[in-house]
Amino acid sequence: MAKIKMATPIVEMDGDEMTRILWKMIKENLLEPFIELNTEYYDLGLEHRNETNDQVTIDSAIATKKYKVAVKCATITPNAARMDEYDLKEMWKSPNGTIRAILDGTVFRAPIVVKGIEPCVKNWKKPITIARHAYGDVYKGSEMKIPAAGKVELVYTAEDGTQTKELVHEFDGPGIVQGMHNINSSIESFARSCFNYALDTKQDLWFATKDTISKKYDHTFKDIFQEIYDAEYDGKFKEAGIEYFYTLIDDAVARVMKSEGGYIWACKNYDGDVMSDMVSSAFGSLAMMTSVLVSPDGYYEYEAAHGTVQRHYYKHLKGEETSTNSVATIFAWTGALRKRGEMDGNAELMEFADRLDKATIDTIEAGEMTKDLALITTIENPTVLNSEEFIKAIAKRL
Ligand code: NAD
Repeated sequence: MAKIKMATPIVEMDGDEMTRILWKMIKENLLEPFIELNTEYYDLGLEHRNETNDQVTIDSAIATKKYKVAVKCATITPNAARMDEYDLKEMWKSPNGTIRAILDGTVFRAPIVVKGIEPCVKNWKKPITIARHAYGDVYKGSEMKIPAAGKVELVYTAEDGTQTKELVHEFDGPGIVQGMHNINSSIESFARSCFNYALDTKQDLWFATKDTISKKYDHTFKDIFQEIYDAEYDGKFKEAGIEYFYTLIDDAVARVMKSEGGYIWACKNYDGDVMSDMVSSAFGSLAMMTSVLVSPDGYYEYEAAHGTVQRHYYKHLKGEETSTNSVATIFAWTGALRKRGEMDGNAELMEFADRLDKATIDTIEAGEMTKDLALITTIENPTVLNSEEFIKAIAKRL
């Protein structure tokens, strides 16, 4: 059988620990036998990040701007313990943060739904994709403890020196205060990423804030979304048969619980932080969540939502057997390959991505799975496979 060719490379960002081991197995068993894999390889493993003073992370993001599609393995974000473990020159920043800062994107997280791994919310039949705005609000806030009675005001000083003031509160005793901000350009990017991704995946887009209470702050989010939708997306959405739907955050939460899923839920930074963990835990497992960073300029970086599965890696190093779930990493690859195929008009590559997704889902639905899923499945007497056996079981179906 002739291997599928790829005209343009995708950017391949290798990573750390157990996911680095899975990465190699996935390529050897599921990709290279079928595709003449064309990637531009960047080693984001912590050792190489340290050797290059983290330049490799920056280079990989710049390459993503060139080729428009990247696939990333999970990577270690260094902390104090990792400084010693890897003898690091510096506590390098989170690669995801660095890449996101360069590509200016929104992260979309979606569960992979399979029969036998049932969401706790019984009416959720289709994935709910969470889009989290990744700039500002409470994450870039300033706070103060107010020790005693006094007045707190917001003061805006324009470049010409004129000041506008707004009273926050007249304290008659101790209290607390918080100031936070966002910027229109970031909200606009977020809105465009969401509208584009909704069109890409042919799903409705929901957005919600608390604009009835926050009449300037949250209302600006609502207005910016609506203005961009009316000016740039209304026609495209109608043509695609999808809908943009705005409501209050409390109403959104109530509707989400009663829905059957199958839409994108755009969230402000804090809402997205909280709701994405709720949605992923309700759908069953972190190991079944995919994640894609979509930039307003049309760059896509695919990855698994989980980390490097450190605990399994240490077992692996001791020569013990592991049963690490590779599904989200496989879906990161198929997401990137499908997008490459779509951009290059390479139907064979897109079909291959669909077949690999299906082979992966069929394997689990046939009762062959890794231990994390065996513990939560409704399938009776599942066969628990180790990391490699699971990938080989998928390869056999493929
Ligand atoms: P983790 O996601 O690796 O593990 C969290 C828990 O979920 C563990 O109990 C683990 O056993 C389980 N788990 C996760 N993925 C699994 C899988 N595929 N199969 C089976 N079980 C799975 O997160 P962590 O332990 O908090 O972090 C480990 C390392 O990963 C850290 O160094 C952290 O910086 C990094 N991390 C990277 C990313 C990323 O690159 N996107 C995201 C999160 C964490």
